[in-house]
Amino acid sequence: MVIIGSSNARVGLKAGMDLLRAGQSAVDAVEAAILLVESNPDDHSVGFGGLPNMLGEVELDASIMDGDTLAAGAVGGVRGFEHPISIARRVMTDLPHSLLVGPGAERFARECGFAEVNLLTDEARRIYETGIRGDSSEESRYASKILKVMVGRLALDPNRASGKDTGTVNVAALDRNGHLAMGVSTSGFAWKYPGRVGDSAVIGAGNYCDDRYGAAACTGRGEMAIRAATAHSVVMHMRAGLSPEEAGARAMEELDHLVDPFWSAMNCVVLAPDGRHAAFSTVPDTSYVFMTDTSEDVRQAPRRLVPVKGSRNPA
Ligand code: ASP
Repeated sequence: MVIIGSSNARVGLKAGMDLLRAGQSAVDAVEAAILLVESNPDDHSVGFGGLPNMLGEVELDASIMDGDTLAAGAVGGVRGFEHPISIARRVMTDLPHSLLVGPGAERFARECGFAEVNLLTDEARRIYETGIRGDSSEESRYASKILKVMVGRLALDPNRASGKDTGTVNVAALDRNGHLAMGVSTSGFAWKYPGRVGDSAVIGAGNYCDDRYGAAACTGRGEMAIRAATAHSVVMHMRAGLSPEEAGARAMEELDHLVDPFWSAMNCVVLAPDGRHAAFSTVPDTSYVFMTDTSEDVRQAPRRLVPVKGSRNPA
């Protein structure tokens, strides 16, 4: 049994592994781990405490996929509910649909009995209002470019916002019956256009899982994962016989062909049906976390750098 995730999943992996050890399913473990990330107010990229869109409203995306049945549930642009991963799971199990967005997703969440909460913490509001101090990272450059578009639309103060304003949680699990599941949850990037839904809610783009071949999920510039169907590509490369390392690298390399003025960082995590795992990033010095049924603690490992440069794009 194994559970892996993006580095911000650290707060949830033990809870997920406890469920796997108790004989619960990979889907249960993935949801339980992500719930703790969504409730973490210090994580400004997921759930409660997430950074808001350009109107100052927190909009959440999430998805979950069951590798046994290939059932999937997702929600996009959900406001006022702390746990989009649980709403996504209920979409998967209770409705003849795979994706609900906006008011329909919120109506369904109410029907399911999920509590309504104000997701915008004081700290997230402060960051929204005052901006993140930019640095020279690729993500900052990406944020700055996108913000130029938003500034034009909303008369935002062009000096106030730049910096790392992205993030998402990915969690994959392999249970004792050999079933895989993958979950993704995010508030998307800060200052996004209202109604924008990213890859985290799009099955095949930011999330894909099939017991036969493996599971993959993405963080980073969601529009690139949508256009390249990155998570599905990773899994299909594994279907063709590539190892998790080869499959992830191959799918990430494909991003180099995208022409995109906002070209930016992409990352993915991969879990194979036999428990092997790997993770990738287009930027150096990043990591992911994992835990097995024989380990006491969550462990960290480096992501493999896939030096994709966006070579078809202007610098
Ligand atoms: N992939 C997420 C999105 O595009 C954001 C991120 O992971 O940084 O919404």
